[in-house]
Amino acid sequence: MTTLETTTHSRLHALHCAACHAPHDAFTLQYVSTCCAQPLLARYDLTAPLTPADVINPTDNSMWRYRALLPLLDDANLVTLGEGWTPLLPLPRLAARHGLRSLLLKDEGQNPTGSFKARGLSMAVSKAKELGVTGCIIPTAGNAGVALAAYCARAGLRCVVVMPRHTPTAFKEECYWYGAEVHLVDGLINDCATRVRELNAAGELLDVSTLKEPYRLEGKKTMGYELAEQLNWTLPDVLLYPAGGGTGLIGIWKALREMQELGWLPRHAKLPRMIAVQAASCCPLVETRAGRQPNCHAYVGQPSIANGLAVPRPLGEPLMLDVLDESNGLALAITDEQMLAGMRELSHLEGLFVAPEGGALWSAALQLLHTGQIRPEEQILLLNTGSAQKYLDNVLGRANG
Ligand SMILES: *Cc1c(COP(=O)(O)O)cnc(C)c1O
Ligand SMILES: [Zn+2]
Repeated sequence: MTTLETTTHSRLHALHCAACHAPHDAFTLQYVSTCCAQPLLARYDLTAPLTPADVINPTDNSMWRYRALLPLLDDANLVTLGEGWTPLLPLPRLAARHGLRSLLLKDEGQNPTGSFKARGLSMAVSKAKELGVTGCIIPTAGNAGVALAAYCARAGLRCVVVMPRHTPTAFKEECYWYGAEVHLVDGLINDCATRVRELNAAGELLDVSTLKEPYRLEGKKTMGYELAEQLNWTLPDVLLYPAGGGTGLIGIWKALREMQELGWLPRHAKLPRMIAVQAASCCPLVETRAGRQPNCHAYVGQPSIANGLAVPRPLGEPLMLDVLDESNGLALAITDEQMLAGMRELSHLEGLFVAPEGGALWSAALQLLHTGQIRPEEQILLLNTGSAQKYLDNVLGRANG
C-alpha cells in the first residue's frame, strides 16, 4: 500500500562544454559541444538544500535510486534491467595474505549483461527514448555493444553494433540474440568508429560513442554515489579503475564533486587518489602523462585480453588527465600476463571471476604497494568493471598459470 512517492524530479538544467564551459540546451538532442567539439557535461541545480534522504529512494535497488541527480525527466521513458546498486565486497583473504588493512571490490560484473556498461547504456537509451530517437549505433570493444543491444531490445529501438573481428564469440553472439545488426571490423575501436561514421552518414541513428553524447557518463557516475553511500559517506584512500575511454573514471570523479557541492561529503574531505590502470599493449594515458607524447591523437595500440582497455585515442583524455592531476593520482600499465595473475588470485582466494580489466587492478595494486605508492594501512578500492564470463576465448586454460 505504501508505494513510495518517487523522489524529487530531475534537477538537470544545462549541458556545459568540458573545455570552455559554454552552456548548451539540455532539453534537445546533443552530441559533442558546438564550440570546441568536446564532451558535454550535465549540470544540475544543486542550490536548494538536498539531503541524501531527499534524493535517495531506499526501496530502489538500482542506480535509479538517485533519480533527482540523473538527467531523465519522465519516468515513462525509463529503460531498465535492474542495473547498479552492485555489492561492495571486502576481500579479507587477499588482504590477510598481503598484510592489508582494508581491501574492497565493487563488483560491476553483477550488472545486467555482465559489466558496468549497463549503467551508461540504460541511461543513454532512456534519454534516447525521451528525445524521440528511433535507433542507436555504437563502436565497441565488446561490453558496450552487448549492453546497447540489450537496452535497445527492451526499448524497441533499432541497434547497430560495430566491433573488432577478434572480439570473443560470446560478445557477438549475445548481440545477435538481442536482435542487433552487428558489423565486424579488422582493427580496434577507433577503426570501428570510422565504420560507424560511414554507416551513419545520413545521421538517422544516435551515435552513442563514449563521451560523444552526454548521458552514458551520467549512468557511470552513479558508481561514485553508490560507493560513498555504501561506505556511509566516507571514501577510500585509493581507487583503482581500468581506464579505456574513461567514462567510469570521469564519472566517479564528477559524482564526488557533486556530492561535495551538495554537502554530502565534507567540503574539505580528502578525495581518493584515482589510479587509471591500462593495458601495456594500449596505454595512451600512461604515455601522455609521462610526457612521451603531447596527447593520444597519433597513438597506435595493440589488442589486449582486456578488450575494454584497447582504446588508443580516447576523446576523454584531457578529462582523465584532469582527474589524475586533481586527485594526485597516476596512470600505469599492466601486461596481459599480469592481468591473468591478478585474475587467478581473485578467483582462487575470493571466488570472484573478474574480467581481465579487473585482474589488472589487483596486479596494479600489488605493484604500487611494492613501490610504496600505496601503503598497506590505506583503504584500497578496486572498481571491477566486468565479469570474465564472456572472455573465455581469451583466458581458456589459464586458471593455473
Ligand atoms: C569498457 C570497459 C572498460 C573501460 O571503460 P571506460 O569507461 O571506457 O574507461 C573497462 N572494463 C570493462 C570490463 C569494460 O567493458
Ligand atoms: Zn567549448
